[in-house]
Amino acid sequence: MLEQRVLDYINAHAQEARELLITLAQIPSPSNHEEKRAEFCRKWLEDQGASGVFVDEALNVVYPIGVTEDNPVVVFMAHTDVVFPDTDPLPLKIEDGKICCPGVGDDTANLVCLMMIAKYLTETGGADKLKEAAAAGTSPHGLVLVCNSGEEGLGNLKGSRKICETYGKRIQEFYSFDGSLSAMATRAVGSKRFKISVRTVGGHSYGSFGNPNAIAQLSELIHDLYKIQVPSEGKTTYNVGMISGGTSVNTIAQYAQMLYEFRSDSREGLDYMEQQFDSIIAEKRQQGMDIQIEVVGLRPCEGDVDLTVKEKMIRLASDTILEYTGKAPDQCPGSTDCNIPLSLGIPSLCLGTYEGSGAHTREEYVVIDSLMPGYEVGFQMVLSYV
Ligand SMILES: [Zn+2]
Repeated sequence: MLEQRVLDYINAHAQEARELLITLAQIPSPSNHEEKRAEFCRKWLEDQGASGVFVDEALNVVYPIGVTEDNPVVVFMAHTDVVFPDTDPLPLKIEDGKICCPGVGDDTANLVCLMMIAKYLTETGGADKLKEAAAAGTSPHGLVLVCNSGEEGLGNLKGSRKICETYGKRIQEFYSFDGSLSAMATRAVGSKRFKISVRTVGGHSYGSFGNPNAIAQLSELIHDLYKIQVPSEGKTTYNVGMISGGTSVNTIAQYAQMLYEFRSDSREGLDYMEQQFDSIIAEKRQQGMDIQIEVVGLRPCEGDVDLTVKEKMIRLASDTILEYTGKAPDQCPGSTDCNIPLSLGIPSLCLGTYEGSGAHTREEYVVIDSLMPGYEVGFQMVLSYV
């Protein structure tokens, strides 16, 4: 339960938070090009009085509070990247109690929640107290708040990887604010993503008829990949997401490529898919197909995590969301920034702080009335570690 003075703070800053969301949501931030948002977040945090903020080489904006050379830390992150490649400002409108903008919920609303918590800690002396306690050796852990990069698609979790590299085994617990208040990702869905291309000699469609066609060959490969029977235990999936290739209508295609992925909520499922994939590729190569494979994404499954700690984190988040929204969130597997710490055995949980719809579409929106309970959830989660 949040103290009255914290609730008052959240109320008093609701308008500011909404304006921050409106500003931030419009700043373009495609994965691997989060420079503009990272710079905005760094400057904003420093303007609130935050000290020690730095941007690492992965473009994470990191605000360590009470973090010494070697004390344990608890991490809270929200990602700055969006799935949209736009480099111009993202279009935003407010109507019917909603803020509509591509990326406004995933993950801008969560990012704003984290930034307002950072501001609160900085302004009200909480950060200073944590720093003093860390210096005196009397606090159980420091706090690392991160506006992180590279969560979406081909960002390949680079921000999360970098944080786990920087703080490693010192991370006791790891939270990502991502997704909505109605669902938490409590288990990691691992995945492997490939760019697969096929080449042939090609030729004139009439004059060289009979020569192998790269598009036809790639189609054969897709056909075989879609014959894979997924394991019945857990959930394992696969998908061809994009194809391209060829030269013209009267050219035997010399080149074709596709983006392909498989996913699973278990290591066994991923290993199984890898074997199936490898054997189909080997068979096609043996038949003379010229196939190149590039791994464009790798998200590991969960490793050996202390389940007692993870259960405690899930209970804390679930009870908190129930308290402030009246409804406990669903628990489901997901592919999130938590995949990296979970694969390293660090207890991690992904929860959201808004309600909305249309994530990963241009019609995305957040419900304005859901933002206040969302801030209460976010504040309570972080403050329970202060
Ligand atoms: Zn997200």
